[in-house]
Amino acid sequence: MKLYSVGVIPGDGIGPEVMEEGLKALKALEKIHGGVSFDIHSYNWNCDYYKKNGRMMPENGLDILAEHDVILLGAIGAPGVPDHISVWELILPIRRRFQQYVNMRPAKLLRGMVSPLRYKEHADLDFVIVRENTEGEYSDMGGRLHRGTPYEIAVQNNVFTRFGTERIIRYAFSLAEESGKSRIIGATKSNGINHSMPFWDEIFKEIGQRYPHMETNLYHIDALAAYFISKPETFDVVVASNLFGDILTDLGAAIVGGLGLAPSGNINPEKEYPSMFEPIHGSAPDIAGKGIANPIAQIWSISMMMDHLGHRDLGHLLLETIEDVLEEGSVRTPDIGGRATTSQLGDAIINKMIGKA
Ligand code: NAD
Ligand code: MN
Repeated sequence: MKLYSVGVIPGDGIGPEVMEEGLKALKALEKIHGGVSFDIHSYNWNCDYYKKNGRMMPENGLDILAEHDVILLGAIGAPGVPDHISVWELILPIRRRFQQYVNMRPAKLLRGMVSPLRYKEHADLDFVIVRENTEGEYSDMGGRLHRGTPYEIAVQNNVFTRFGTERIIRYAFSLAEESGKSRIIGATKSNGINHSMPFWDEIFKEIGQRYPHMETNLYHIDALAAYFISKPETFDVVVASNLFGDILTDLGAAIVGGLGLAPSGNINPEKEYPSMFEPIHGSAPDIAGKGIANPIAQIWSISMMMDHLGHRDLGHLLLETIEDVLEEGSVRTPDIGGRATTSQLGDAIINKMIGKA
């Protein structure tokens, strides 16, 4: 029996609603496999916690999380608490402290889903965006001078280290190799950003030379964004800096049916620290409390978590079942054109999976 310790942060808004379905899926996986078991520890670290305690998590919160094998997050953010507090004091410290330098975000059109891109089908849309998750444009460095005067200046430094740049690009190449993919694209903007991006390009080319059998290319981010729409079928793996990856992954989610379906992993590939799996979407205050949030992004994130833990059979089973239910089509939440509730869709997936196994 393999026992995994899972730290769970349901969060705010629809976070706890979709997490409930995710935890049901974990229970079902235990039942199906027999050889895995999950020891769940839930933490109420969210914006309510902040309102009571003046912080998003306890002072030793990261030490507590460090004890788990993996972390599952719902979503964070609530009206009344500025996002720079909720995100910068909970999610970013977790990503940085645990060296979750890979933010992996599949852009995959599931069976049964229709892309807003006309003529694009299931087989056309299946690639992965690997986003750098610890440095780059989202650095803490910079400052503001001459506040409130006409001469005011805001400077935000971009931080690209050789260590950080090499490890994310290396990861992208080895991911492509492992999954039998041959095309790898680096997102750049070295025609406009003349220090960090040429550095990024050099490292991309250095590492690319070690993979002569792969088809590699650097595309400028503006053109690349357009290619996501005009020829998404040509992509296998796209590797991008923190900001470029952030933008590309929302675009990736949009072309495969929306945020309700889009999962992500914040991965520490060396497994020195726990990795964290979460939907790309936020706490959706506009639909929170109505019981209509789509739980698929959360459940797919758990499928990615199973892959990460080495149970690819279970990860695959979960994703296949999500596709079966979407293809069958009668149980869908409103964001994907149906009238089902969060728990009806969660149950449909879980029952189908138990039936299949
Ligand atoms: P959002 O992702 O919460 O919502 C955007 C739109 O998508 C909304 O119309 C929402 O109803 C819809 N949507 C999102 N998830 C859905 C789901 N599972 N099912 C059905 N519809 C869904 O983004 P936002 O409105 O910009 O942000 C709301 C809050 O979430 C903010 O406080 C923001 O900072 C926070 N946020 C948190 C994270 C995170 O926890 N990682 C990520 C993004 C935004
Ligand atoms: Mn984003």
